[in-house]
Amino acid sequence: MRDGIEVLGGNGTIEEFSVLPRLYRDAIVLESWEGTHNTLCAQVLRDFRQRNLHRPWLAELRAALEGVTQESLRDHRARAAALLEEVARRIERVAGAEPAFAERHIRFVVDRMCVAAAFVALLLELEWDLAQGWGSDKAQVVEGFRMLHLDPTDPMESEGASELQRFISSTI
Ligand SMILES: Cc1cc2nc3c(=O)[nH]c(=O)nc-3n(C[C@H](O)[C@H](O)[C@H](O)COP(=O)(O)OP(=O)(O)OC[C@H]3O[C@@H](n4cnc5c(N)ncnc54)[C@H](O)[C@@H]3O)c2cc1C
Repeated sequence: MRDGIEVLGGNGTIEEFSVLPRLYRDAIVLESWEGTHNTLCAQVLRDFRQRNLHRPWLAELRAALEGVTQESLRDHRARAAALLEEVARRIERVAGAEPAFAERHIRFVVDRMCVAAAFVALLLELEWDLAQGWGSDKAQVVEGFRMLHLDPTDPMESEGASELQRFISSTI
């Protein structure tokens, strides 16, 4: 959306010109509606500590990853498995930590959980496309997601990386 506003230049910022400024403002409203990120994260922490809800969540993602079987996705699958273990360690750490430490870090842990869940979901979609024998841009989306959120790459040092990042930021 920010890129869309930028394309329109000064006009992009004017409410009478297009719907984009309102959508841009509403994006932050959607983050606070039904509870702000911080208060939702505090609830997630309580759910870890009191109800161990992270265990079924982790089990579900691990089971979902079992469904990624294509040979060409082997490396992504291993990366996703490593990420899930990293997230599991972080969760156990905040769940057993002093309240001040847990409250300070829970938002980062939840963000990391979201990255893990999104990466597994993308892999499952790509697995499905490949199983149908379909050509798909999703392989690039998976590569780009990994580059943006898991293994950041210096675009000046990696041939093709900046082009891929541009492609990804235009699709997600
Ligand atoms: C358009 C709109 C419509 C809404 N409609 C309704 C409605 O119909 N009914 C309804 O009940 N509510 C409604 N809300 C309220 C909304 O759902 C949020 O619950 C509310 O906006 C959050 O409370 P607040 O605005 O008082 O912010 P605050 O609670 O003052 O939060 C301000 C900031 O402090 C942070 N913060 C607050 N407490 C903590 C904490 N303990 N630890 C760390 N950080 C903290 C928050 O994350 C936030 O960044 C609406 C909100 C909007 C924007």
